[in-house]
Amino acid sequence: MNRTRRQFIGTTLTAGAAAGLGAVMPQCMPKSEGLKKKYASLDEILRKPVLKKELFPEPVIIDTLELLRLENTFLCRVRSRGGAEGISIANNEQMKSLWPVFVTRLQPFFPGKDARDLEKLIDAVYVYKSNYKMQNLALWVPLATIEFAILDMLGKISGKSLGQLIGEIHNQNIAVYQANGERDITAEVTIEHIIKEVGETKAKALKFKVGGRMSNNFESPAGRTEKLIPLVRKTFGDKMVIYADSNGSYTADEAIRIGRIMEEYKIDFYEEPVPFDWYEETKEVADVLKVPVAGGEQEPSLHMFRWLIANDALQIVQPDMFYFGGMIRSMKVARMAEAYGKACTPHISGSGLGYLYMMHFVSAIPNAGPYHEFKGFNEELPFTCTTSTLSSNDGIVKVPSGPGLGITLDADYIKKHILVKG
Ligand SMILES: [Mg+2]
Repeated sequence: MNRTRRQFIGTTLTAGAAAGLGAVMPQCMPKSEGLKKKYASLDEILRKPVLKKELFPEPVIIDTLELLRLENTFLCRVRSRGGAEGISIANNEQMKSLWPVFVTRLQPFFPGKDARDLEKLIDAVYVYKSNYKMQNLALWVPLATIEFAILDMLGKISGKSLGQLIGEIHNQNIAVYQANGERDITAEVTIEHIIKEVGETKAKALKFKVGGRMSNNFESPAGRTEKLIPLVRKTFGDKMVIYADSNGSYTADEAIRIGRIMEEYKIDFYEEPVPFDWYEETKEVADVLKVPVAGGEQEPSLHMFRWLIANDALQIVQPDMFYFGGMIRSMKVARMAEAYGKACTPHISGSGLGYLYMMHFVSAIPNAGPYHEFKGFNEELPFTCTTSTLSSNDGIVKVPSGPGLGITLDADYIKKHILVKG
């Protein structure tokens, strides 16, 4: 626990006890002077631009913005009036349900706009057609797909990678953690699988699942979590960095009980101990436990990230590039976290090339966590990359350094896609 966190908890406990309200300060209470100052500093961070507009002296007017489809694979292609082109690969798992949002509520907004204003365009399209009423991954996944295509185009114009467009390059090589997503099997079988997976990537960190996923404390087989936490530590030893993810399995009391076991076995972070929108309970758990609490993969709101950071309800922030609406919004979260000494370890939605967007983002943040999520490389899409093998070498993956996304998608493969109409 860092000094800032200890000080803040002390302040909150005193104020809460005086009001007879326990450790959690309800959001409706008047804000303390300390909290007001924190919000003011975070608002200043939010006002700072992310996209480096100065790289583009001439306007980049968007001519066409298209959604292309081949069965359940979706691409976004953007072209400028000057002949530049950018392409992105959607989160197909979500886009197969959400493509109508893309073509009816977002696509019509962009033609004729200057791509250099991307940051303002994202704010404006949020209000366009009252899209803010849809704030969640229903809106953010299609919008992130558009943002990635526009950034790819701007990268190709300027010769800069996606990371260079939104920050300085801090991490050209990224250490990955091996994620195991299994539940509903015994602790013993889970361990066998994790040993095999870690053996393949040689990762120096791993993450495993606890609880039953949004299950109000139920899990199957019963007692799996209590058995698995010690077993993982015993199997991999003290040097292995070990993360545990509950996916909102618990109520606050049960989350704290399980968190105590994690502390005993020195688990390095505890992800989503309670459902993600149980904000007060998230803070309650984080205040009580020493194990750092991580979260944010489901969070759709920049303003709520501001709350989570100012109130020290999370020690590690995990925006998802797709679920949170792109790299510019995610960079604002990383910057707010950095100001309060918190790490950013973005979540990846394991579909398409989600890991590539995540890696470019991580390349550009100074407060990246030591290890980042790895769910396997995409072996299905036909593309080439000349600046990285995109393989795990002793648990390290190199971020592509070419312009834009840094890969070339096979032209014949793109041609097979059909234009999606609204
Ligand atoms: Mg998770």
